[in-house]
Amino acid sequence: MTGSPPGGASAEEPPGAYDILVIGAGPAGLAAALYAARGGLRTVVVERGPVGGQIANVDRVDNYPGFPEGVSGSDLAERMEEQARRFGAVFSVGDAGIGAIDLASPVKTVGGMRARAVILATGARPKGLGVPGEEKLRGRGVSYCATCDGAFFRDRRVAVVGGGDSAVTEALFLTRLASKVTVVHRRDRFRAAPFLVDRLLSAGNVELKMNRVVVAIQGEEKVESLVLRHPRDSARESHEERIDLDGVFIYVGLSPETAFVKGKVDLDRDGYVLTDEVMRTRVPRVYAAGDVRAKELRQVVTAVAEGALAATTAEKDLSEK
Ligand code: FAD
Ligand code: NAP
Repeated sequence: MTGSPPGGASAEEPPGAYDILVIGAGPAGLAAALYAARGGLRTVVVERGPVGGQIANVDRVDNYPGFPEGVSGSDLAERMEEQARRFGAVFSVGDAGIGAIDLASPVKTVGGMRARAVILATGARPKGLGVPGEEKLRGRGVSYCATCDGAFFRDRRVAVVGGGDSAVTEALFLTRLASKVTVVHRRDRFRAAPFLVDRLLSAGNVELKMNRVVVAIQGEEKVESLVLRHPRDSARESHEERIDLDGVFIYVGLSPETAFVKGKVDLDRDGYVLTDEVMRTRVPRVYAAGDVRAKELRQVVTAVAEGALAATTAEKDLSEK
């Protein structure tokens, strides 16, 4: 824990309770902490991993306003953290988990901490493919983060699996390091924004394997090859194709980090938190912001906007009797 817990107390507010407890220190949580702390609320952010969330692993962010030349995701996250700390937000970072959680009572408890309001900003994590070899070779050629691991594949051959913005931006990043980047996508059209696809296609060392699914990742000590099939023939070995390579980067979408609040707040069928337009869940004084919410556009700019809105709504609710 950095910073110290508050000491003030009232009937509904036992000693040591915060006004706002934010779970997750990605862009949404950091913006919520900035707004809450700057609004004079005693604010703690609980983060189980490094501060910054998904964007901290992104090489360059080109679409966050205010940075005409682009900005590295880790720089952006560091600045957000610094700004929240400047106004007095304190951070509890690096615990394996948050432990027991009670959101229903007027004084919320999260692990050992108490607060009058909680903002869920736990974002999302990458989905796996669930194919043979993926678990065994994770960290030995199977990766979910090109910015973290791309340098290990300098002048080597890699594949990127997926057809969304993540797959295409990270494949583009890898073209600058790897000798050849094979993009494997299950359809004949990309989901990613067309301008990103155009940029990828203009790189000289990209190969597309459209209408292909990965059915196995092979290798003894490290990744050696991928086995692909046409989606329609995915049960037929005779239609297999094998490509030899050194690394596989998997970008097939995200799962919301909401297992720990299942049954405590309303979730949609994919597990994203349902809120109203000012970020309230159906539980009094519990809010959600960022990628963890059910919504259309998952970006830094929407995450920070929702973090700000969640904190502002919480501040308003707390000031009411
Ligand atoms: P996250 O960034 O997911 O942060 C959530 C935080 O909560 C994490 O730090 C996590 O460790 C923590 N957490 C989770 N569960 C718990 C728990 N139980 N207890 C404590 N802490 C917990 N967006 C853009 O605008 N521009 C881009 O160029 C861009 N590029 C991207 C490239 C890639 C490869 C990816 C994957 C995403 C990209 N995005 C981009 C999307 C952007 O990163 C997300 O929209 C944004 O990070 C969402 O912020 P968030 O705070 O809601 O969630
Ligand atoms: P996404 O948009 O959900 O795309 C996932 C991709 O993986 C899709 O192409 C999907 O195929 C494919 N896929 C899903 N399951 C698969 C499986 N089992 N096997 C093979 N392929 C599979 O996820 P994302 O690309 O990670 O993006 C997540 C969010 O972050 C989006 O909102 C995105 O806009 C945002 N983001 C933004 C930027 C940016 O602004 N530069 C960069 C990265 C991410 P189908 O197309 O057939 O469904």
